[in-house]
Amino acid sequence: MRIGFGYDNHRLKEGRKLMLGGIEIPSPAGEDAHSDGDVLIHAIIDALLGATANGDIGRHFPPSDDKYKDISSTLLLKETMKITKAEIINLDTTIILEKVRLKDHIEAIRESLSLLLNVELSRISVKAKSHEKMDATGRGEAIEAYAVALLAND
Ligand code: MG
Repeated sequence: MRIGFGYDNHRLKEGRKLMLGGIEIPSPAGEDAHSDGDVLIHAIIDALLGATANGDIGRHFPPSDDKYKDISSTLLLKETMKITKAEIINLDTTIILEKVRLKDHIEAIRESLSLLLNVELSRISVKAKSHEKMDATGRGEAIEAYAVALLAND
């Protein structure tokens, strides 16, 4: 078995869509990014690449490359699954966001990830918390995500 860890953050910008785990969450502001900015998927991608010692998201999908402009991060995740040949045993994630309460969206995000990753729902955990008003994330200016994945391949 192999374990991988991923982290990502993005600034939040008014008028941008807030994408988390492949679905849009109602919010006045979303991730400001070269791609669609899905911070949760980006953290998961880095966890999968990390578990298989395949570098990081920036190496495989450089933001300097125009072909990734506004791309759906679900496509980057699909590509990552081909690179890593990942057979996920379980995935645990945490999203840190101040102003939008994610409680009512957690199940939809889990279901989306279950379909995207082809992993049963009971093996996918998505948690959300605030940053207790501290720092840029706590002022609602940014969003962060952490992911840990256990893989069965070697
Ligand atoms: Mg990112």
